[in-house]
Amino acid sequence: MRLEDADDKHPSGQLAKVDISIEQEIECPRCHDVMILHSEFDRPGYFCEECEFSLHLSH
Ligand SMILES: [Zn+2]
Repeated sequence: MRLEDADDKHPSGQLAKVDISIEQEIECPRCHDVMILHSEFDRPGYFCEECEFSLHLSH
């Protein structure tokens, strides 16, 4: 079994299994504006539209 195939078979619905608390909005560490949670990627992350800073959650 190849790991890259396993990744492709998991749709974004896999994120529902995450049981840690994920805030919808956090404060940007760079410009202190509001970062919005984006979950359309393989893993959830935050993106600041003000300074274009991106932060990916790893777990
Ligand atoms: Zn920012």
